[in-house]
Amino acid sequence: MPSVAICRSCGIIAPSEAANCMSCARPISEVRVQVPPQSADLFWVAVRCGFTCNQCKFLAPLDGLDVDGAVDCAHCGLRQRFDVTAWREALSFAHSVGDLAGPDPEGRAPHPSIWIGDENPYADIGVKKSFARGGDKVREIDIHACPGHPVCRKCRVPLTIETPAAGQIKTRCLTCNDEATFSLGEAQQTGYPAIMGAVADEHRNDRPRAQPMATQAGVVAMRCPGCGAPLAISGSDKVQTCSYCKVSCFIAAKNLARFHHKTPEPEVWWLLFSGVSEERINLTSATADVPQTGKNLLAALKPGAKTDTIGGKPGVYEAPEEPGIHWPQVLLTLLLGSIALAIGYLIAGRY
Ligand SMILES: [Zn+2]
Ligand SMILES: [Zn+2]
Ligand SMILES: [Zn+2]
Ligand SMILES: [Zn+2]
Repeated sequence: MPSVAICRSCGIIAPSEAANCMSCARPISEVRVQVPPQSADLFWVAVRCGFTCNQCKFLAPLDGLDVDGAVDCAHCGLRQRFDVTAWREALSFAHSVGDLAGPDPEGRAPHPSIWIGDENPYADIGVKKSFARGGDKVREIDIHACPGHPVCRKCRVPLTIETPAAGQIKTRCLTCNDEATFSLGEAQQTGYPAIMGAVADEHRNDRPRAQPMATQAGVVAMRCPGCGAPLAISGSDKVQTCSYCKVSCFIAAKNLARFHHKTPEPEVWWLLFSGVSEERINLTSATADVPQTGKNLLAALKPGAKTDTIGGKPGVYEAPEEPGIHWPQVLLTLLLGSIALAIGYLIAGRY
């Protein structure tokens, strides 16, 4: 279980040969911290996702695992549908990046006997750069992904994370004691079973969220989830308190940006994955000479799985040697020796 070197300011992997963080540009020597893996089988992947508007080609942020399949373009206001099955490809890509990224050329859990380091497309992640881009591998969703570990945005330290139930995540900052809980819906989990949870403002479930009100294109007003009154938003804090009913609620980054007439940029959010990725299975089976079924290969790829012992395969083996004296063999040798001697005397006695 190798630990991950991250930038403590953003949480993304700190490349071993880079001078500055790809995201916050701070010197790596100042911000690098080692974080132990979530567990032997669970690991974090940072993603930044967007959807390109069909009309104006503007990139609309996807700051959570949105399975509604509808996005409002933050630029031209056009509401458009995107194919939610594209998330499957996006998640598979993010899973593969987290599983295969360097600095080990074979990624986080190398196969004991099959070397994939030469074919691994993500071997330079964590060495020279942080993010890999989905590109042609993912339809519709523009995704960047890299390994790391979620950090407290206030204190810039790695968060302590619990996984109380399927799809549920609880984070805690040991410095400021800030706690948060996040959940994935059933549809979000069943679409890609290796996903164990997400840490993203859009998946936070411990605070009501303000709803955008229908206004003219590109302009956003927010409604209080408690009393329904329009929210008087002050500053750029994502948590705002209603001036009427005093309920504090959460405003999505893209809505806050639009409220302030700023162009929303995709945020970095986090996905927790478990186990071997599809790309590792493909690489391993392409590299191995013996064709193996996916199931056998998966079993062989499980961390801690044993390699075949020599006795398990047909072939020629040396007989096992037992220590000590084998008395029947000694007696037989003595008997044959005396018979030969007796014959020798008989022949010698005749002449
Ligand atoms: Zn950084
Ligand atoms: Zn647009
Ligand atoms: Zn904190
Ligand atoms: Zn209110």
